[in-house]
Amino acid sequence: MEKKISQIVNKARRQLESIKNLKEFDKLWLTFFGSSGIFTGEVKKVSRLKAFEKPRAGKLINASKKELEALFANKKAQLLKKGVPSKIDVTLPGKKPQIGHLHPQTLVLNDLMDIFRFLGYRVAVGPEIETEWYNFQSLNFPPDHPAMDTQQSLKVPTDKNGNAILRTQTSSMQVRIMEKSPLPLRVIVPGKCFRYEAVDSSHGFEFWQLEGFAVDKNIRLTDLFGTIEFVLKKLMGESTKLRFACTNFPFVEPGVDTYMECTVCKGKGCSFCKQTGWSEIMPAGMIHPNVLKNSKIDSQKWQGFAFAIGLSRAVTLRYGIDDLRILTNPDLRILSQF
Ligand SMILES: [Zn+2]
Repeated sequence: MEKKISQIVNKARRQLESIKNLKEFDKLWLTFFGSSGIFTGEVKKVSRLKAFEKPRAGKLINASKKELEALFANKKAQLLKKGVPSKIDVTLPGKKPQIGHLHPQTLVLNDLMDIFRFLGYRVAVGPEIETEWYNFQSLNFPPDHPAMDTQQSLKVPTDKNGNAILRTQTSSMQVRIMEKSPLPLRVIVPGKCFRYEAVDSSHGFEFWQLEGFAVDKNIRLTDLFGTIEFVLKKLMGESTKLRFACTNFPFVEPGVDTYMECTVCKGKGCSFCKQTGWSEIMPAGMIHPNVLKNSKIDSQKWQGFAFAIGLSRAVTLRYGIDDLRILTNPDLRILSQF
């Protein structure tokens, strides 16, 4: 039996060498291990041996079975490797498909809307082409007043009087909303604005603004300070440094300007903050009684505050970007960093 088993193993070794594909391999496997295979035949013989011969034969069969199985396994591995076309390497990790994501400006806008919704504000949208009345006069800009020079508008030749403009601020929605809505009110208006302005690292002729206002009884300047501080610290981080200054806008009295420590230079002074270490982020103030009057609201009973955030400015300050023109650059290498 020993001789016979040794012949079977040698035969398998010889025949496996000439196998070229898996089909031939399967056929050969059956020749040895199938129910009437050569090796199976030897295994069956063990049961017919005398009791004293069985242990030795069993040992021999087990050892040769292991040897044969190893020979067949090696050959199968060789055939599998050979059978795969060279262009595909199954051992290489797959290519990750590129997945898009939201633009940093959208991320900041979404965060701002969440923060204001938490404070009870609703979100409104309005037209980008606006009348001069809603963009300027209703907000207490007297006709031909020099204050309008700071917001030079782009005219749109649409109506017969030629006074339609691209809105310079989303505050143009303030009177539109106030004259139609029941009080009290808490509203934010995000949207695109346009100004005839030289483009530089911190200004664009086309930019996103988020205007907001609240009208209620007994609203005070301190409520405005509290709102600004809460919103900016939630958006920029609790350690954000802020400072307020008096300023003058026709639509508010008193007017407040909010400055945030420049995140690009950490307050040391750079071209983005014009070497001051601070960047204007949120102009605001108490709504001027004339604006309430234009909305048919009794300013003796109701007060309000209004504020605006330059969205692109907020994005650049949040991420420490020294040039807001980067945000409109279509280079994916830049945008994929956010
Ligand atoms: Zn700076």
